[in-house]
Amino acid sequence: MKKNNSLDNKIIKKQFIKLVIANMIAFILVYAILGVTISVVVRHYFYSDLEDELRICKAENQYTIAKVQGEYRLKVDNARIKIVLFDDKHQRLAYSKDLLNYIIPDYGFETTVNSEAIASYIDNTEICKLGEFVDDEISFEKTKLGKTEYNFITLTFDVESNFASEVKYCKLLIMNNGEIGIKNNIIRIYLIVSACLVLLGMIASIILSRRTIKPISENMYKQMEFVSDASHELRTPLSIVQSKLENILTKTDASVYDVSEDIAISLKEVARLNRLTNDLLALTRSDNGVATINFDNYDIKEIVKDTIQIFKEMSEIEGRKFESHMETVNFNFDREKIVQLLIILLDNALKYTFKKDLISVSIYKEGYDCCIVVGDTGIGISDEAKKKVFERFYREDKARSRKKGGNGLGLAIAKNIVIQHNGKISVYDNKPKGTVFEVRLPIKKLNKK
Ligand code: ATP
Ligand code: MG
Repeated sequence: MKKNNSLDNKIIKKQFIKLVIANMIAFILVYAILGVTISVVVRHYFYSDLEDELRICKAENQYTIAKVQGEYRLKVDNARIKIVLFDDKHQRLAYSKDLLNYIIPDYGFETTVNSEAIASYIDNTEICKLGEFVDDEISFEKTKLGKTEYNFITLTFDVESNFASEVKYCKLLIMNNGEIGIKNNIIRIYLIVSACLVLLGMIASIILSRRTIKPISENMYKQMEFVSDASHELRTPLSIVQSKLENILTKTDASVYDVSEDIAISLKEVARLNRLTNDLLALTRSDNGVATINFDNYDIKEIVKDTIQIFKEMSEIEGRKFESHMETVNFNFDREKIVQLLIILLDNALKYTFKKDLISVSIYKEGYDCCIVVGDTGIGISDEAKKKVFERFYREDKARSRKKGGNGLGLAIAKNIVIQHNGKISVYDNKPKGTVFEVRLPIKKLNKK
């Protein structure tokens, strides 16, 4: 099967797009919340103070506006507050003289005091009119004087002063062009920064989604590869059994003895199928994390000595030399799994050696590790194959391994067992020839389990 980790699988691609969109929405939501927060803070920061100032000014003057020597007197602590007074017919009675200052730069009037020209000009501006009066209303008004637009925050209220009974309404104004300018600048900066961040977020989200999807897609392809390899491996023994059984069926007058070879081959293939399905089950279980591991404290020498004895006898029957060196090492491990690991390594050593070759097993403690080393002087493994021997269904010489009943799953299972024990498994050349498999199990870590 073609190994492919890119995003060309439909399901993966769909998932990837979903992930990018979800990430983008998350980014945009964060910026939107940030924007709302900024606007609330800015509003509060710029306007609530101004509103407070207007209300204080109202409280200080509502009942006390007086007319002294033809001039209206008010108590105004904040120089930014300008005032316009109206009678009961909404006609303007008076306004702060310096309210005119706003138009001076535009029109070049020389004086601010009682200039008729300025007064008539200002008559036409909305800010000096009462408009629709609502008592105690804060509102935002703007007017264009010359080329410049002026923004005001205003408060209008009823006047109830005995000292100037003709004054019925008062409008307080604060020109807030400065605040609006700053606010607009903040919004502009926010929008520019957000646009940049959203763009960066988009790139980040694509990179992040790729990273997230990569192990999933790799796993998916591995799984697909595994299923395809497994079916392929199952097919071979099944077709052998089928052909042998068909062969038996054609020999209707043959005795059991005559077809014993076919039966023997079929039985061998059935045994192989049995082993293969068991191995597949073991691998799938550990893949899905449902393999049970029973850690307990044992002396490894005691646990493996029978297995080693059996292999010693088998090796000698098959004409191999066998050496073993075992130390007492007490630590937590799963006894069945460690025995299985040793069987896999010793089975390989036996399978991939010739007569007179030497097989050796050493178990000892080194530093904080328990080492299990299985060496042989057999056919050896090429450097290329060393990188792949722990992969499922990998066999350096498929025909040879199959002849020996191998499915290429032994070392994959061994690796899983080692991983379940937080250990490491490695393979290197034996001197002068052959192969060494070294397993290191971290005693300290395992004793905490
Ligand atoms: P299985 O163990 O499933 O019966 P197998 O022995 O072919 O089949 P593994 O144990 O996974 O599979 O080994 C994978 C491959 O690594 C083998 O096919 C063989 O090519 C190589 N190999 C493993 N152990 C040795 C060894 N001691 N010497 C030389 N080659 C080895
Ligand atoms: Mg094997």
